[in-house]
Formats: sequence, structure tokens, C-alpha cells
Amino acid sequence: MRLRYNFRLYPDAPQREMLAKTFGCARVVWNDALAARKAARQAGLPFIGDAEIQRLVLTAAKKTPGRAWLTEVSSVVLQQSVRDLNTAYRNFFDSVRGRRRGPRMGLPRFKSRHEHRQTARFNSNAFSLTAQGRLYLAKVGEVEVRWSRALPAAPSSVTVVKDAAGRYFCSFVVMVADGGEVLPEVDTETGIDLGLTHYATFSTGDKVTNPKWLRRREKKLARLQRSLSGKEEGSKNRDKARVQLARQHAKVADARRDFLHKTTTSIILENQGTHIETLSVRGLARGRNARSVNDASWGAFLALLEGKAARYGRMLVKIGGWYPSSQLCPCCGWKVGKLALQVREWDCRRCGEHHDRDVAAAINILLEGQRILRTTRITVAAGLAGHGENDCGGQVRPGEATPTLAPPGIYGAQAA
Ligand SMILES: [Zn+2]
Repeated sequence: MRLRYNFRLYPDAPQREMLAKTFGCARVVWNDALAARKAARQAGLPFIGDAEIQRLVLTAAKKTPGRAWLTEVSSVVLQQSVRDLNTAYRNFFDSVRGRRRGPRMGLPRFKSRHEHRQTARFNSNAFSLTAQGRLYLAKVGEVEVRWSRALPAAPSSVTVVKDAAGRYFCSFVVMVADGGEVLPEVDTETGIDLGLTHYATFSTGDKVTNPKWLRRREKKLARLQRSLSGKEEGSKNRDKARVQLARQHAKVADARRDFLHKTTTSIILENQGTHIETLSVRGLARGRNARSVNDASWGAFLALLEGKAARYGRMLVKIGGWYPSSQLCPCCGWKVGKLALQVREWDCRRCGEHHDRDVAAAINILLEGQRILRTTRITVAAGLAGHGENDCGGQVRPGEATPTLAPPGIYGAQAA
């Protein structure tokens, strides 16, 4: 499995200058290759192959006065830029032919000089880690890194990023064997209800408040945005205002990322099985609460849970969004029907039980997940390779062994 490790970089002034050149050249090479292929397509010529495009935009281009400066930066980085474009094309073709899962991929696009996030990828021939803990980058030199944790293995590539706030990062790709970090089994399971009032509500009754990262900084962001639009185009002051605004947005993103990582890690560590509803985030993100839904980043939350479950040998059961988790009594299965959003608590008219809306939903999700597991023909192959589909369209990712299920009597409830 591929894992990413990000660290802050502190290049000095000459290194920053060299990085700026590297970003620029990598972008030009990408754009030249893309333009050549587009031109060939418009002229009705066949698709330019990987070797030919490399010769065209690198070897041949370097001999022309217009592109001679490409020799100033690492050629390995430029080759990588062309390879990344080839991969983008392949992903696009696979997507069109239905050979690639996930959302439809578009054609690769031109990179603009005005993009405020710039990147360059160095493969193993173009970087190394020095004994002093610095990152050596070809033609740039040894750059200072703030190591916040150790790398589990030697990285296969590193992407250097300069973000809109002017900060530098390095992002290492490290290959780790699947199941290499499987944790000892615990006997707890949890159901999670995601929401806007509380970010997450657990079947145990625990709740995590919604940090509302964007909402909390809304006023400041609006003020910076106004200040930016008041500045004259192309002026030094406008540049300053742009960086200030980008810094605030970066703070929001950092706080969000930090929360998502901490929360998902503790869920996966504490529970052998996690049951969660897959919300149609795309649908919700178009609705009335679009801003809040985007801010909550449930998609990223689910993706992190999934990744960590696989990595640590835990079970994650995803329940389709069709399941009426907030409309059932978890004790007796009575269907209360759709509740208005402001209704936070309710009483079951059949068994008389008093429910907190979100906790009841979380318990229902737990029960439904356990039901799916019981009725699913889980094909648990050796190790972590097991993977089963169930009749409800949910996905089951079994852990190392056959899942041990908690009895369906938790919280005095009976399976509906
Ligand atoms: Zn009831």
C-alpha cells in the first residue's frame, strides 16, 4: 500500500530560487507535451507515444534557443513531469473505456504560471536523505526538513510543493506491505452517525462536536477577501493581501486535516469494527447546507477511516445511504418516519423508549452493519485479502480473521 508522509521544508534563498526554476521548467515541459499531443490530434495524426514525446519536449527542445534553459534544472524532474502527464492520459483513457473505477477523469489540462500552488516530483534518482537529516534535491542542494515523525521505509519519490501561502512542503511516497501494521484485536465495535450539529455521534452515546473550521474564521476570511479585491491588479499590496488570505485558508485546511487524522485514528485504534453510513456527499454538497457540508469534509473522513482500517487490520462496514438510520427505534424496530431536522429527541410510541436522535441513528447503523455481516457470505481469504460484497450494496472489509461480532443485544436492543 502506498502511504504519503508530508513535512515542512525550509529552503534558503538560493534554494528557493532554484526550486522556482524547477517548478517553472516542469510546468513548461508538461505544457509543451500536452500542446504537442493536442496539435497532433487536431491534425488527425496518431497519438504521440511516450518515448517520442520525451524526445520532442526534452532532448530536441533543449537544443533550441527557446528552451535551452531547460538544462539549468534536474533532467530527472523534467522526465518525471512528462511521465506524470503520460499517467494522466492513461487514467483518462482507462476512465473513458470503463476500465477505471471512481469518478470520470478528464483530459489532462495546461498548468498556469498563475497557479499559486506549484509542484515538482523528484524520483529516487533525483533525491536522497542525508546523514544530517536533510533532503538532498538534484541541482537544488540539501534542504532543511522539519521531521515530525519517522518514515517507515525508504521513500520511492518526493513531491516538493510550494503552496499559495508561500510555504514549502515535501510529500514522500512510501510503499508499505499490506497488513504490515495489523494491531492486536479488541472486542469493541461502534456505529457512527455523521452530522452537522455533532460531527460524529457514536452508538455508545459519545459525541464529537463539529469544529466548523470555516464558520469560525468566516469574518476574518471575508475581511481579507474584501481587502484583496480593493487592491489594484498587479500591485505589491495586492500580492501581500493574496498571501494573507491564502495563509488564513491554509490555517483552516491545517486544522481540518489535523482533526480528521486524530479522530479517524482514535476510532480505528479503539474499535475492531466500525459501522458507518456512506452519505451521498455529492448530493448533499449541492443542497441548502452546501457550505457546511463541504467544510465538514465527510468524504475525506470516510477515505481516511477506510485507509486506516485496511492498514491496521480493522473492519469497516459501509452502509448505503438508503438505510433509514434516523427513522427507526433501535429498541423495537418501530418506524417513526421522517423527523424534522430540529427534532433532537423523540419517544418511541411502541416501546416507550426515549431516544436522542443521533445516538439512535448510530445504534441503528451498528445493528444494520452487524446484520449485513451475519447475512453476507464473507470470503475471508488468507490475511487481509478477504473482501466481500453483500446484497445491500454495502461493502464489507473483513479484518484478519473471521469477524467476531458483538451479540445483537447491546443496549437492550433486538435486531429489527
Ligand atoms: Zn421502540
